[in-house]
Amino acid sequence: MNIETKCLHSGYSPKNGEPRVVPIYQSTTYVYNSTDAVAHVFDDPTAGLIYSRFANPTTDAVEKKIADLEGGVAAMCTSSGQAASLCSILNICEAGDSFVASASIYGGTINLFAVTLKKLGIECIFVDCDADYETLVKAAKPNTKCYFGETIANPALTVLDIETWAKAAHANGLPLIVDNTFATPILCRPIEWGADIVVHSTSKYMDGHAVQVGGVIVDSGKFDWKNGKFPCLTEPDESYHGTIYTRDYPFAPYLLKARMQLMRDFGCYPAANSSFLLNLGLETLSVRMKQYCENAMKVAEFIAKSDKVASVGYPGLEGDKYYERAKKYLPLGCSGVIAVSIKGGRDNAVKFMDALTLASNEVHVADIRTCVLHPASATHRQLTDEQLVAAGIDGGLIRLSVGLENVDDIIADIEKGLAAIN
Ligand SMILES: *Cc1c(COP(=O)(O)O)cnc(C)c1O
Repeated sequence: MNIETKCLHSGYSPKNGEPRVVPIYQSTTYVYNSTDAVAHVFDDPTAGLIYSRFANPTTDAVEKKIADLEGGVAAMCTSSGQAASLCSILNICEAGDSFVASASIYGGTINLFAVTLKKLGIECIFVDCDADYETLVKAAKPNTKCYFGETIANPALTVLDIETWAKAAHANGLPLIVDNTFATPILCRPIEWGADIVVHSTSKYMDGHAVQVGGVIVDSGKFDWKNGKFPCLTEPDESYHGTIYTRDYPFAPYLLKARMQLMRDFGCYPAANSSFLLNLGLETLSVRMKQYCENAMKVAEFIAKSDKVASVGYPGLEGDKYYERAKKYLPLGCSGVIAVSIKGGRDNAVKFMDALTLASNEVHVADIRTCVLHPASATHRQLTDEQLVAAGIDGGLIRLSVGLENVDDIIADIEKGLAAIN
């Protein structure tokens, strides 16, 4: 199946007389006809459902669909993108370990990595997202367990050189985890470029309609966890009656561990109703992504011509620092998100934003409706000036998320914003 078809048909194929649309299985639990049968699903959780803290049929259908879209072998949904990022790291890092991350990533992820994980004894080694192969290879220490980056970074819109990052990680015997939220599997499939694990905030384009927060972790099934660096996957898990993930679940040991250990203990599983809504968003993902790209390209070209704008970051724009890299990794387009730096810094950025009437001022991005955000006073408020610069953010920066309205209406609104700056 081509990806457009997968958006509609992967993950759920009803049999004779069954509902056409995957139903909402609003049930916390599942019935078995004997004690033995229950014992059996505890021994092998892939054999049946146990409890909706770690698996549910509605969510299961969505997980299978996303795994298929990304070209992975298994996926696990989480209650937020933050939970997906957290679990993706905690699944292989423990106190005393470290991991390498691109400095150009989502502000919430920077807080999680630099502050909260540090308190748990896990060190994040930040490196420039454009670091060359040698620098990336050398960034790892003996206790380093993985590399992490974002395909198109929120909000700096840097494009990750996934192939180089994957090669550097693999040279150290380590996996690369890629947050593919902005690109979605429609525009880029990181696994095809060597990434081993993919995470998403499904709250953004995948859901698309701003109706529920969620996340997902996808396992490529390709990484060799038996290279001696990951005893957590190759030695018995005493908390799960001696399961050895690489032996018992060789097709996706990483994902099975995340579900059986972390999801069991943290319980950050989405509600069936949320997964049902996410599935509706996924059904139109391919159609929407193409239109977001088309609208954003026109808006970026328009706004780049204004003398009130210091710079426009949109990797699809010729002359953008990431133009060439985007051609390689994002041939269909660069999503609907544009970074606009207004001349005159924070004051003029605020004037521009407050004059808009169509675009909503909200803490969201990658929505079906056009929206704007001032990262320095909202999502990235907690970052120090140094971290802001490293994440590619200045006081005049506006994150403009171009929606699916008629592009002429979006441009007319932006004209109003520009006119408000004197
Ligand atoms: C929003 C976002 C997150 C966090 O996701 P939530 O669903 O809000 O928890 C992580 N990564 C990226 C790139 C994001 O845009």
